[in-house]
Amino acid sequence: MKKKLLSFLILASVLFVPASVVAELRALIVDGQNNHRIWPETTTLMKKYLEDSGLFEVDVATSPGKGEDMTGFKPEFAKYDVVISNYNGDLWSEATRKAFEDFVKGGGGFVTVHAANNAFSKWDAYNEMIGLGGWGGRNEKSGPYVRYWEGRILRDLAPGRGGAHGSQHEFLVETRRPDHPIVKGLPAKWLHTRDELYDRLRGPAKNLTVLATAYASPATRGSGHHEPMLMTILYGKGRVFHTTLGHGLISQQCVGFKTTFLRGVEWAATGKVTQRKPDNFPTADSIQVDE
Ligand code: ZN
Repeated sequence: MKKKLLSFLILASVLFVPASVVAELRALIVDGQNNHRIWPETTTLMKKYLEDSGLFEVDVATSPGKGEDMTGFKPEFAKYDVVISNYNGDLWSEATRKAFEDFVKGGGGFVTVHAANNAFSKWDAYNEMIGLGGWGGRNEKSGPYVRYWEGRILRDLAPGRGGAHGSQHEFLVETRRPDHPIVKGLPAKWLHTRDELYDRLRGPAKNLTVLATAYASPATRGSGHHEPMLMTILYGKGRVFHTTLGHGLISQQCVGFKTTFLRGVEWAATGKVTQRKPDNFPTADSIQVDE
């Protein structure tokens, strides 16, 4: 009898393993410096999203502060399936930059969130990975502007600054590649919570696919163009997901941000998306905030 009970308990424990134990993908969030002082809280929120999905085990690598010695900052990128950057600060050491380039080139996933695309304007490989970036002296030498216009993605080489945004507001995100796994099954248009709408980004824009755009209205001091919001970039064997969204906590609490972020991280890690659209996903006329 005792033996039977024991085997029942072993079987039961195998069948009811908590999700956290079966998380198969390893994710690393990199942070430590950011002109967005909310970064410790956005890291915590993104870490929670990833862990709650049941798909990821998450570590965080926090760099030294601004102006401090960066030589000891050596995250072990190679241990992970995907690296997520919430970092916008001092240049990493040459060894760390090389390790990161090798990681992505060799097939590692990378996800750049909001101001992470402000970072490293002089680091060529990084700019190829993110496709488009802003600020840091970026201009026409950095590459074209990329915009959506009447069913096409246009590259504009006109001179001018790279990176701007108008006042924060709620805005419509419009899907442009509904067949892509990251946005498949999501509404063609959905209303995003209050955020900065990045416009006028510039960069090499090689192997770049624009998944979703938003109209940067001059009424909110925007560029007057349909600007890329969600993108993918292929770099070597690596997959990159680029979300320009996520300025503050309210921006990241949007179910639209959360869903596209989680799907983008999974896609960058594996090339596939297994997550379904949540029932409370925003629509074209109602925002949805994650509780
Ligand atoms: Zn911002």
